[in-house]
Amino acid sequence: MSRRNPSQEDIALDRLPKAALNRESLRETLALAAYLRPYRPRFLAGMSTLFVSAACGLAFPFLAGTLIDAAMRPGGATLPWLGAMPLNQVALLLVAAVALQSLASFNSALAFNRVGQSALADLRRDCYQRLIALPMAFFGQRRVGELTSRVSTDVAQIEGALIDALPQLCRQSVFLLGGVTLITLTSGQLTAVMLGTLPVLIAAAVFFGRRLRRFSRETQDQLAATNTIVEETLQAIASVKAFANEAFELGRYETSNRRVLAAALSAARWRAVFVAFFIIALFGGIAIVMWFGAGLLQQGKISPGELTRFVLYSTFVAGAMGQAAELFSQIQKTVGATQRVRELLREPTEGDLAVGRPAVPGELPPRARGAVALVEITFRYPARPETAVLRSLSLAAQPGERIALVGPSGAGKSTLTALLLRFYDPESGRLLLDGRDARDYPLPWLRAQMAIVPQDVLLFGGTILENIAYGRPGADEAAIREAARQANADDFIRAFPEGYGTIVGDRGIQLSGGQRQRVAIARAILKNPAVLILDEATSSLDSESEAQVQLALDRLMLGRTTFIIAHRLATVRNADRIAVIEAGQVVELGTHDELSARPDGLYRRLSALQFGPAAGSSEPGDRPGASAI
Ligand code: ATP
Repeated sequence: MSRRNPSQEDIALDRLPKAALNRESLRETLALAAYLRPYRPRFLAGMSTLFVSAACGLAFPFLAGTLIDAAMRPGGATLPWLGAMPLNQVALLLVAAVALQSLASFNSALAFNRVGQSALADLRRDCYQRLIALPMAFFGQRRVGELTSRVSTDVAQIEGALIDALPQLCRQSVFLLGGVTLITLTSGQLTAVMLGTLPVLIAAAVFFGRRLRRFSRETQDQLAATNTIVEETLQAIASVKAFANEAFELGRYETSNRRVLAAALSAARWRAVFVAFFIIALFGGIAIVMWFGAGLLQQGKISPGELTRFVLYSTFVAGAMGQAAELFSQIQKTVGATQRVRELLREPTEGDLAVGRPAVPGELPPRARGAVALVEITFRYPARPETAVLRSLSLAAQPGERIALVGPSGAGKSTLTALLLRFYDPESGRLLLDGRDARDYPLPWLRAQMAIVPQDVLLFGGTILENIAYGRPGADEAAIREAARQANADDFIRAFPEGYGTIVGDRGIQLSGGQRQRVAIARAILKNPAVLILDEATSSLDSESEAQVQLALDRLMLGRTTFIIAHRLATVRNADRIAVIEAGQVVELGTHDELSARPDGLYRRLSALQFGPAAGSSEPGDRPGASAI
């Protein structure tokens, strides 16, 4: 079971880049605003209705104060521009303001959601499009599960910022600026008293905000580590059960889970203290203002309506300030999230990395002839640059030729086939298809010429029909059934109650190994490639399934250049040629008879190990159908 626990360094690295608010990070965040551009008219409409709603909100305390004054004066209250108004008219005005505010809020919420969700759908599509276009080297060097979960968390963070934080920020700014202006107009003295409590609130917000952020980041990181354990164990659930390691895994999870709890409780303690403090500061501030205001009222310096206005505006201003800390931390998180998403969107794709000028698909034949040549190829995996896996390896196959690749484990056989598919490009040397450098072909065309039937076939979770159709999306059902027939799969598929509509389960676990393999062969038949790669295609099957699969493979190989990776030498006797690979080089090349005849050859030694010293003449390792290649 390959498994790596996230170390503290991993977690720290994943946190990079830091969510610092500097010019660069802000620039990155604004760059993401490009996603709003297609929805500009609706966004502007949302903004304007938001300001209308905020303005109505600000009018509320004013009209409420006026209402009280109108009740206390026989001729009603005087409103700017509107003149004197009796109580009931002011009440109607108040109701109208509330109704308008509600209507405007409805429209702005709808507009922001529409714009935000549409922009996010575009962003998600771009992230996915970029992810699947990244080169294999990228996936070899990252923990992909964690990367994708980070991206989805980051996108969710951006969603929150776009749909909630941004409108809140605008609304609260209007309340803060408008509120302070209006209370200053109401009573300069009272404003001075209220603003006197401000520094205490701001200092508290900064003090508690920092601690809260630290603990909530710690909680997030611990949670990510805990989720990684779940992901890893579920991926390798068969091994966990086979080793009866449930208790061990549970212990690992418990430890990590307890850390999440500890961090979350610390955050909760600070949040609770913050809330308690904020209540004292807020209500205490209002009490002081009311006490002072009541004194002014007693002295006849302000009217009861003005005091009401003042108290209401003060709560608006205090509320806006209370939200400021939360909004600031939201913005900070969003900047960090945006940076990671932008980083992903900047990763070069396979297409970006292509060198030279690939031919235009129109200039190419629909199907290659299938002459493949590897010329002096040297290759190292990007994740392990110190080791050359292939060293000046040369090998050529004629169209339709069957070449078996044999050799010790780790010799580089699978790597060679990965290079054929251009999952990686060699460090030096060239890969030729029909005499032309593989890099001259567009990647999709090149890969359309090849198919691989791997040892461990992973199917997608849909139906059998969909899984076969994956070989040629859009193929009609008759072609799919024909491919299944040729792959010896039609009988077992039709024996299922649901037939071709049978759901294969996650990764195809509801099918047996041999059945999965025949589905994979049907898929390859449907694809109709010029070059075929069989990676240990029959190694894990019993004799009967192997015979079935072998028959299917024989049909599949007809007229196609085929590379067969095999450990069991019995399966490769009838290959046109056998290439023995050792330490990244072709050390022997020839037919079974030629290689068996070499006195000190590696092939002969390997045969002797598998079949005993008399290898070459006797066939003790053969099984029915196994020698058909
Ligand atoms: P086997 O018969 O056991 O499947 P193989 O001949 O197919 O072996 P490869 O899978 O090609 O061998 O591996 C060749 C070498 O490359 C091995 O030493 C392996 O550790 C290394 N290797 C394989 N994949 C990677 C990778 N993604 N990153 C780094 N090194 C790798």
